[in-house]
Amino acid sequence: MVPNPSNRRWECRAVRLTLRHPWTTAQSTSEYRDTIHVRLTSEGVTGVGEGAPIARYQETAEEGCRMIESLRPFLEGSDPWRHEKLLAEISERVPGQFAAKASIDVALFDWVGRKLGVPLYRLFGLDPDSAPSTSLSIGIDDPGATRQKVLEAEPFPTLKLKMGLRSDEATLAAVRSVTQKPLRVDANEGWRDKETALRKLRWLEKQRVELVEQPMPASMLEETRWLRRRVQIPIFADEAATSPAALPALVGAYDGVNIKLDKCGGIQPALRMIHTARALGLKVMLGCMVSSSVSITAAAHLSPLVDFADLDGNLLISNDPYRGVTVRSGKLVLPPGPGLGVMPLGVS
Ligand code: MG
Repeated sequence: MVPNPSNRRWECRAVRLTLRHPWTTAQSTSEYRDTIHVRLTSEGVTGVGEGAPIARYQETAEEGCRMIESLRPFLEGSDPWRHEKLLAEISERVPGQFAAKASIDVALFDWVGRKLGVPLYRLFGLDPDSAPSTSLSIGIDDPGATRQKVLEAEPFPTLKLKMGLRSDEATLAAVRSVTQKPLRVDANEGWRDKETALRKLRWLEKQRVELVEQPMPASMLEETRWLRRRVQIPIFADEAATSPAALPALVGAYDGVNIKLDKCGGIQPALRMIHTARALGLKVMLGCMVSSSVSITAAAHLSPLVDFADLDGNLLISNDPYRGVTVRSGKLVLPPGPGLGVMPLGVS
């Protein structure tokens, strides 16, 4: 047992979230996702946090929990009011593991908000009524299932379609057979040469698609720059936009960036990315991974700062252990409680 004179406690566990529909993108297919859940208890108050490991960066919930466990003496010896310093020290000690870092960061912010008795949006000086609408993501599927998912997504004003496979044309035709609402397309780096990407983007421009995310691999920056000069449709970086420091190089190749707490390491780095992107003249989308309402609500508290929200990860699962942000006619509705404002549902 590590001595813990402060009586401060950090707990971590992996939680298996079941997907409503098997989830296919240009990268992978899955029926469930494991995310990292942490709880910080100190001074009689408990804060909760979550991070969703991203397979592309070789992260798993198991390894993330192991990392947090190894940091436990440091975490339990650190003052959560000094969370800027605490998070900076973790960044120095541990390379990568952004989902695990995000879970710690979110728990710290939830704890601080609960201690102060204010919701996070208020701590950040934001107007909850300015929270944007969120798109709902439709994973790659056969045309019949795609049509069904689009019909189920009726309340959402915008849909985000996963593309980047041979079936792109059939997918879009299936969607357009049942709705004319605005669409966003995420290719997840699926178009591997610039001529293919150019052909796809010119086709998407004719289909009322309002933006396209990561058409080419993140490493193909010059090719993306070439692409951007030839199309009107806004191009957003996701896999290429990993940290504040990654953003300056994206100017001229992308029009905007998709920022995710799980990818950059939590609320604090996400805020830095939002402000860096703004300073560079880039548009900002807040995105997410498949996760529970803890992670999605954390991101939603920042949503009044951004142009586009894609915060639907909790809507894609059938066993959400929490209730937090809700969606009314597509618009994000922030909970008014202190911190994240999430409530456990006792079903995990
Ligand atoms: Mg994406």
